[in-house]
Amino acid sequence: MHRAYSTAHCQLELPDYHPFPKYKYAGVAEALGETLKVEPAPAVTWETLALVHSPTYLNKLRSEGLSRQEAHKVGLPWSGSLLSRALYATGGTLAAAQDALQTGLGLNLAGGTHHAYADRAEGYCLFNDVAVAIAQLRAEGWRGRVLVVDLDAHQGNGTAALFQADPSVYTLSVHAERNYPLRKEQSDLDIGLADGVGDQAYLEALEPALAQAFAFAPDLVFFNAGVDVLGNDRFGRLGLSLEGLAERDRRVLEKVREANRPLVVVMGGGYNRDPQITIAAHAQTYRLALKTLG
Ligand SMILES: [Zn+2]
Repeated sequence: MHRAYSTAHCQLELPDYHPFPKYKYAGVAEALGETLKVEPAPAVTWETLALVHSPTYLNKLRSEGLSRQEAHKVGLPWSGSLLSRALYATGGTLAAAQDALQTGLGLNLAGGTHHAYADRAEGYCLFNDVAVAIAQLRAEGWRGRVLVVDLDAHQGNGTAALFQADPSVYTLSVHAERNYPLRKEQSDLDIGLADGVGDQAYLEALEPALAQAFAFAPDLVFFNAGVDVLGNDRFGRLGLSLEGLAERDRRVLEKVREANRPLVVVMGGGYNRDPQITIAAHAQTYRLALKTLG
């Protein structure tokens, strides 16, 4: 049985009215509990974080934490539980990446915190989990080429910036152009979609983008499988159906299968107005990954 990491064991103190969907981490773990061996994600070490994040930023997090103003930019109130949860979520992506190199498929039921930069937190993201995982694999001596397929509805700005000067990592971001972040970074390939784009137009844009990205001939693929592309998402601005989302995921997974390369799936965003849809959508992605590559 395949293993997946989860932050369901982490508490996160938030006011009741806060839109961050903390319910989904335990919800998805529960939905997949029969098909996967769900394990608590291990915490990433500060030493590993330092491979990507600046000492000033990390020291600040460890000592006084984010200021009110910085926390406002992140969109989450500062607390010890916020930091702790981020350590486990990032550790989950690293553990999943190590699994992927061993078994072909690594799964983190969290992560995809693509708005985090080397020196600052943004948009619900403290650490750039995918960048941290890649940096740790490098530190362990792994030298392969990496493709990051970021299909969250928001541009992977932190990830794009972190790898802009790194020819060994190819970043693809397919997102809603008018969505957050207002100021986009340059990925290796950016596809900015109009508001409200539905299944057909989305898949038509995705196909050539995937072809171009996989032509990079990666040795390892990360998939940020954010489900905030669904219609009725609070923040996504796109209009995919659950079936369209499944087709999106199948196309990515099929490319990975054809390339015969290991895959790491991280969760990404998902803020559907119906919490059950958010959970069902994320669970669908992981089930498809298992079915195609497990
Ligand atoms: Zn998003």
